[in-house]
Amino acid sequence: MNAVVDVSNVCWSPEIGPRSKRPLLSRLDQVTEAWRDRYGAGAELVLVVDRALRHQISGEQRADFDRRCRQGLLRVVPFADPVLLSLARERDLQIVSQDRFVDLRRQFRWIETQPERFHGWRRDGNGLCFVSSGIVPVSGQVKSRAEEDKDLAVRGLKDHKDVLRSVWRCVARCFMAQVWPEGLLLWPGLDRRTGEPVCPDPRCGRPLVRVRDRRPSRELLVERLDLDEDRAALLRFPLEADGCLEIGRGALTHGINLDGIGREHSDAVARVSRRHLLIEADAALTVSVRDVGSSHGTAVRRWEGHALGRPRPLEPGEPVRLGSSDQVVLADSVAVRLSGRRYSPDVVPPALGGGGGARTVLR
Ligand SMILES: [Zn+2]
Repeated sequence: MNAVVDVSNVCWSPEIGPRSKRPLLSRLDQVTEAWRDRYGAGAELVLVVDRALRHQISGEQRADFDRRCRQGLLRVVPFADPVLLSLARERDLQIVSQDRFVDLRRQFRWIETQPERFHGWRRDGNGLCFVSSGIVPVSGQVKSRAEEDKDLAVRGLKDHKDVLRSVWRCVARCFMAQVWPEGLLLWPGLDRRTGEPVCPDPRCGRPLVRVRDRRPSRELLVERLDLDEDRAALLRFPLEADGCLEIGRGALTHGINLDGIGREHSDAVARVSRRHLLIEADAALTVSVRDVGSSHGTAVRRWEGHALGRPRPLEPGEPVRLGSSDQVVLADSVAVRLSGRRYSPDVVPPALGGGGGARTVLR
């Protein structure tokens, strides 16, 4: 039986032994050996590893790690999870990992329908045996939180969430400072060395000045419709309670300009009007949208329990409430939706189940 192995997950598993809080390559050898004992010496094992593991293992193991890479025994990628799930799907491989992949279940829907393909491990006498890794279906909200948590980690904000609880402005002379003198409408960037918020304008990046506490907020996500789900996200931004903003393609003081998000997206957003969509949140963070007279129109797709329904075009000015999984489509090319995350400056973040008790997310 052929399989793809989540190498970082294996190397970090203290259950395999020997006892150590550091990741160990020897654990990988124990797992591959046990798999071939159990499923045949000819079983093909594809070993996918996060690039970060090289820096997490002890110095003595690094030469061994590099040798395995040179020999093509390890496949090193920036983020292993989506790669190993894609490989598993394309080549019909089993998956050796204790990870529950909650943040990727929307992207890889077969995870929940084929839990028997996921193998964890347990010590058994002197050896290892393979057991179900315990994948069970979770709600959409749990998936969203896991996705957002992963996104924060990728952006370096996971340990600096306090940055997200304030509104910031840039006092340099950059484009964003001029468009939003009262506070940035996008999330700030983060200086990974100091943990300080910096201007998200790619040509600026200077330290920001705090304006005030952010009111309870929801996060919105803008996505391209012409790309796969994992590459589609264009930007995320907060919307405060009792707040409103516009999305379009112009320098909008009270809005977000999709023209400013990079030349590689300019064709995709070309049909969005200069003033296209107004998004409003009431005091309870119920979000509604309306088309403000766009040329190519706006449609809403309601979530119908298992999939998005057909797009329903909106009349100009017609307000519609946006449900947590609904999608607003601008000019048939760009979608806006609520992300799973809510922010509140004074709510203690609850623990997220299923991924270890220490992990917390904002809501
Ligand atoms: Zn700036």
